[in-house]
Amino acid sequence: HLSPRLKAVADFVPLNARLADIGSDHAYLPVHLLLNDTINHAIVGEVAKGPRDNAYHELKKRHLLGRADVRLADGLAAINDKDNVDTVVIAGMGGILIGDILKAGKQQGQAFKTLVLQPNTDESVVRGWLNTQQYQIIDEAIVQEASHFYEIIVATIGTQHLSDLDVVFGPYLRAEKTATFVAKWQKESARIALIFDHLKAAGKSDTDTYRQWQLRYDQIQAVIA
Ligand code: SAM
Repeated sequence: HLSPRLKAVADFVPLNARLADIGSDHAYLPVHLLLNDTINHAIVGEVAKGPRDNAYHELKKRHLLGRADVRLADGLAAINDKDNVDTVVIAGMGGILIGDILKAGKQQGQAFKTLVLQPNTDESVVRGWLNTQQYQIIDEAIVQEASHFYEIIVATIGTQHLSDLDVVFGPYLRAEKTATFVAKWQKESARIALIFDHLKAAGKSDTDTYRQWQLRYDQIQAVIA
């Protein structure tokens, strides 16, 4: 079975989606969806040979190779027009890399009905990109595993205008303000408090750096208040 993080990603994949999982590594997500018959077929993309082999062996072990195409490719280059993919998952990478993969696909004229994105870091980069493209965020989730917090962002074709607060905190996440969301931003607040201590100790409390951290800190307190 899946980790809470991948389970939350899986829950956003529509029934009968024509799915591509980009950067699949062990293919745990497509294996789960195929075994549950949520989807009939998956394209499993990997840029590196080791993870590509992991995916292949996992699918083989589960007798699912007949329902999956494992492809060695950089990002969305794993997908052809003929595949009629309508749902793309990109999970477990940094937000900057996810943004770069989406940008490269866009340059190739690729657009997908549904994107399920799970950046490990830099979530605001992902939301910022979606906000300037023909995508709108339709749902979000946040899950905790040990001391890590993971955000999942679901987008579909459309337009929207996110505020700066929406881009940083997530339009759905900040409206829902779950205990997990508050815990994530409390953890970030504690980290910034340490930065304040270091800056003060270094005699740098009257600097732009300090004031920028102070703005972020105050913004966080206002959002989780
Ligand atoms: N998606 C799985 C998950 O969420 O558990 C695996 C995440 S794993 C930490 C990240 C994977 O992304 C690695 O296997 C890496 O090879 C792959 N990756 C990184 N850049 C990629 C790219 N440009 N195209 C395809 N895969 C990529």
